Amino acid sequence: MSYRFADRTKMFKTSAIREIAGMIQKKGSDVISFAGGNPFEHYFPHEEIKRAFEKVFESGKGSLQYGMTPGFMPLRELISERVKSKGISAKPEEILLTTGSQQAIDLFSRIMLSPNDVVLTENPTFLAAVQAFESYEAKVVGVSGDKDGMDPEDLEKKLKQHQPKFIYVVPTFSNPEGKVWSEERRRALLELAYKYNTLVLEDDPYGDIQFHEEETYTPIAAMDEQKSQVVYTGSFSKTVVPSLRIGWVTGPAPVLAYMSQIKEAADLMSSPLNQQALYYLMTEMDLDAHIRMLTKQYYQHMSVMQDYLKTLDGDLVSWNEPKGGMFLWANVHESINTTELLAKILDHGVAYIPGAPFYVENPQQNTLRLNFTHSSPEKIKIGMERLTAAFLQSLK
Ligand code: PMP
Repeated sequence: MSYRFADRTKMFKTSAIREIAGMIQKKGSDVISFAGGNPFEHYFPHEEIKRAFEKVFESGKGSLQYGMTPGFMPLRELISERVKSKGISAKPEEILLTTGSQQAIDLFSRIMLSPNDVVLTENPTFLAAVQAFESYEAKVVGVSGDKDGMDPEDLEKKLKQHQPKFIYVVPTFSNPEGKVWSEERRRALLELAYKYNTLVLEDDPYGDIQFHEEETYTPIAAMDEQKSQVVYTGSFSKTVVPSLRIGWVTGPAPVLAYMSQIKEAADLMSSPLNQQALYYLMTEMDLDAHIRMLTKQYYQHMSVMQDYLKTLDGDLVSWNEPKGGMFLWANVHESINTTELLAKILDHGVAYIPGAPFYVENPQQNTLRLNFTHSSPEKIKIGMERLTAAFLQSLK
């Protein structure tokens, strides 16, 4: 049988992360993984979530019914308050609840992209976003940048050259680079977006995991006073638990209207049961205190990883200290190809994600992404010992 699949299936790629997760699973449970983007289960508010679900069930059977497409209004009200504290003004009616922020990326792509349209992204950037863009047969073009964000000159050049449908960015504690854009670069991006009449998709799942309280990072959406240019998405996956699959999106009214309309076609609505449970959780538990605890702990995890790297020769490895989020991005000696080394690394009982798959063009083979949230600080230490032993051996 020859299946007559849609042309767009030719654009589908398997995710490097999923492939590596499969390899790790085959190796057994002794592998210490810095590969995925998982939070540390030990910090999950397990009991509080259990109680929240009990409360939902005590409230009757309504939560088991179909709900409205944009989601449970009391939760949208709480999110409206939370984004206000970041300087983003979005009324509850202007917030669409989604099945994780990944669905927001997908729905936005669906309403924006026709075959051969262009999306500009950072290079490297978040893999699953690229998967979504390409699944709608768009072309993804990388904009060069540095530790402070996209280079405005290259951005302007590519805006002129490609007339992209939108620019996708993760400006606060990005995945994979763990970097945070400077205020200046954020403003420069927004100015160019206005000038070239191009939307910005600002993806901010990590913004709350901020290690240094005294620093402020203004979301680009908060700078968009005209509220015309930025579509902003957030998530509870990193701050509560990923399995609730609750994210949200806000942005210009016509964008939200189309996204809500097409969400009906995608899944009618996201789970009212989970949304109500999260609502109870947020009213009963001090989420900000929980996030402060997480942040403090993850800073410890990151420090253990970083302290280990500091003991190594600067020629072997270099990185910028993450100021939040879940990832440390490293450059290793140029003679090391991190993709080729991975199979051997697994034999040492440790795993990472090579940097190459995150690039939309010109992959740098001597880069890697290390996640510091999934393992305990003790395990991180052991994992880092294994990792450096493998790197040193590969240099011989
Ligand atoms: N955006 C970025 C940058 C991410 O790293 C992730 C998760 N790894 C997501 C979006 C999707 O998260 P979720 O769907 O769980 O909200």
